[in-house]
Amino acid sequence: MTPLIRLEKVKKYYPVTGAAIGTESGTVKAVDGIDLQIIPGETLGLVGESGCGKSTLGRLILRLEHPTQGAILFKEKDILKLSERGMKPLRREMQIIFQDPYSSLNPRQTIGRIIGEGLLIHKVGTKEERTERVRHLMEVVGLRPEHINRYPHEFSGGQRQRIGFARALALQPELIICDEPVSALDVSIQAQVINLLMDLQEEFGLTYLFVSHDLSVVRHISDRVAVMYLGRLVELAEKMALYAEPKHPYTQALLEAAPVARAEGKKERKGLTGDLPSPLNPPRGCHFHPRCPHVMDICRKEIPSFMEREGRRVRCFLYGEEISERDASSE
Ligand code: SF4
Repeated sequence: MTPLIRLEKVKKYYPVTGAAIGTESGTVKAVDGIDLQIIPGETLGLVGESGCGKSTLGRLILRLEHPTQGAILFKEKDILKLSERGMKPLRREMQIIFQDPYSSLNPRQTIGRIIGEGLLIHKVGTKEERTERVRHLMEVVGLRPEHINRYPHEFSGGQRQRIGFARALALQPELIICDEPVSALDVSIQAQVINLLMDLQEEFGLTYLFVSHDLSVVRHISDRVAVMYLGRLVELAEKMALYAEPKHPYTQALLEAAPVARAEGKKERKGLTGDLPSPLNPPRGCHFHPRCPHVMDICRKEIPSFMEREGRRVRCFLYGEEISERDASSE
């Protein structure tokens, strides 16, 4: 199947300025050579700790930022080669839902105005038709249409996130980047909101990239899960395979730390040891090596490649036959 989104060796580096004006003291490799596809109709969960580059990746896909290197194709069209004008129709097809429903809505605008803004910008329909569409969208996401003239502060956190969903749906997009859409909400509301996202996906044939720092949050909604660490993908697998048998030591640690695993009493919590290293000065070789319980000499010197076997991909020297033999001889 033709992917909806295809990333080829995408990099995003940020120069860091030094104390003296105009000097560069280093580079943050926020996204460092990502190859990834998103298939129409699927939900791809993208997981990693805060600061690992996953939100940057979402912004690159929407071309809210320009990559340092690489290609991003939407329906096989390279969006990096398009002018702003050429990009405008594609912007209708790609939307984003933000983490924080409080700050992502303009407090001085009614929710009717907020939800209908995209329709206005893209000159869709008459004023009456736009109002009717906004009222319909409010119903779809579980808000009462008679509240169309209310302001964001009159709604709860969960309701504000629903306003964000209605805004994202207004232009009938194909792809929605959900950037930590439930992490600012109470746990009791998170499940409702995730269920709503799944219902909307079925009704409108949506494709999601669901970004989260928590593996237990993406478990219910994802078809596949990609795990990211310091700008690189370290594991990509079908959901069932990943949760049943995580291969990468980082995925294993994230899963052990996840609330679901703890609640099910699957394992004593070991989780992650140490802090996420600075992306300005990441460890050599495998970026995860200072925190990895299985670290070997080679891990400190060489970058493991992203190896594929049986439909899953893992970036670890422990994974892959030829490397395993080398591990055995080096121990
Ligand atoms: Fe651990 Fe080495 Fe695998 Fe990195 S490559 S995750 S340090 S075993």
